[in-house]
Amino acid sequence: MAPPPMKSWRVLTRKELTHDVFELKLQRPAGDGYEMNFRAGQYVSIVIPGAGPGGRNLRRAYSIASAPEWNEVELCVKLVEGGPGTSYLNSLKAEHEFQGQAPFGDFCLEHDQTKPAMFIGTGTGLAPLRSMVLCGEWQSKAPVSFLLGVRAEKDIIYPELFGTSRPAQLQGHEHVKIALSRPEGHWDGYKGRVTDYIRTMKWDFVQSHYYLCGSGAMIAEVKEILAAKGVDKEQVHTEKYF
Ligand SMILES: Cc1cc2nc3c(=O)[nH]c(=O)nc-3n(C[C@H](O)[C@H](O)[C@H](O)COP(=O)(O)OP(=O)(O)OC[C@H]3O[C@@H](n4cnc5c(N)ncnc54)[C@H](O)[C@@H]3O)c2cc1C
Repeated sequence: MAPPPMKSWRVLTRKELTHDVFELKLQRPAGDGYEMNFRAGQYVSIVIPGAGPGGRNLRRAYSIASAPEWNEVELCVKLVEGGPGTSYLNSLKAEHEFQGQAPFGDFCLEHDQTKPAMFIGTGTGLAPLRSMVLCGEWQSKAPVSFLLGVRAEKDIIYPELFGTSRPAQLQGHEHVKIALSRPEGHWDGYKGRVTDYIRTMKWDFVQSHYYLCGSGAMIAEVKEILAAKGVDKEQVHTEKYF
């Protein structure tokens, strides 16, 4: 299949989600008969101009955090100190444009939705998982676990997905949790790494599908835990950021 065309993407708004994560809301590129459609879980490949060796362009990938049915496309970006990609995105303001191609990726909902599913994101790895549970493809009536792992309270993104007035898709499920590895204040939720939480869970591990996104370390550890519980590799879907 031909790659998606290179397009100009316009920033509509920028919002701080935490001290080091910001959201860019983008207008969907269109024109010349092109419509930017995507499946939940896919990403945009962004051109970072002149940031490579000899002033060449670089590319960086960013998962789409919004649902395909929404008008605008949302990205959430963790600012990495000195990182060329995030420094460039951090310099963009409303009305600025950048070059990018989308959609890419096959980290999408693939399982039989009558079966349980567990979603685990570390940091901005929550982005594609948010899109998956809020998208029109989401029909599940089976048990869902939706887990975010971050260091401290100040690192929590999209808290509205976890609170008592969370979206209907996540209501009534016990394992919708934020795990803080190093809480800084009084934290009523789970204290520890998200991988420790999984080890303690009562869950139908063998029947469930898994969507893991974020650090390679988390993905490798969760895969080990799942293998030890007898989960088939085919049921584990991953997107590794670094
Ligand atoms: C398919 C895909 C989707 C991605 N989606 C997102 C996304 O939605 N949001 C996002 O913030 N990043 C995402 N990333 C990571 C992103 O592509 C860049 O790697 C990241 O923004 C750093 O780029 P940089 O040029 O600023 O720094 P670089 O110099 O390329 O990276 C420096 C170091 O930063 C660390 N790092 C990279 N990404 C992260 C991160 N997200 N959180 C913490 N540390 C990190 C790594 O240790 C890396 O070696 C995604 C990566 C892939 C492969």
